[in-house]
Amino acid sequence: MTYCLHCGDCCLRMPPPPLQVPCQHIVKDGDFYFCGCNDAKPQACKDHMRQFHFCPIGIEKLGLASMCETRQRIDTGWEKCKGLTASEAKP
Ligand code: SF4
Ligand code: SF4
Repeated sequence: MTYCLHCGDCCLRMPPPPLQVPCQHIVKDGDFYFCGCNDAKPQACKDHMRQFHFCPIGIEKLGLASMCETRQRIDTGWEKCKGLTASEAKP
């Protein structure tokens, strides 16, 4: 499993066709980016960088310098995900 750091880079710049650039399903909360169609997202999104434990794009883009910072980013992202309502999650 790859832990997404919610930097938004993949969804903003390289969503799989036929999705738009940036993807129309992005939900933004501050500098966190979430998928608004998590259960129905394309297989290409589910497979994104699954060979890594933590997404290396997010680590680079967010300047995460330690495992502690990375853990905090994941924990905050999970808390924000739980707070998304069904209507917020729609494109
Ligand atoms: S469908 Fe979701 S995971 Fe895929 S590019 Fe769009 S927002 Fe990102
Ligand atoms: S951390 Fe990686 S998988 Fe998550 S939004 Fe950023 S680029 Fe995409």
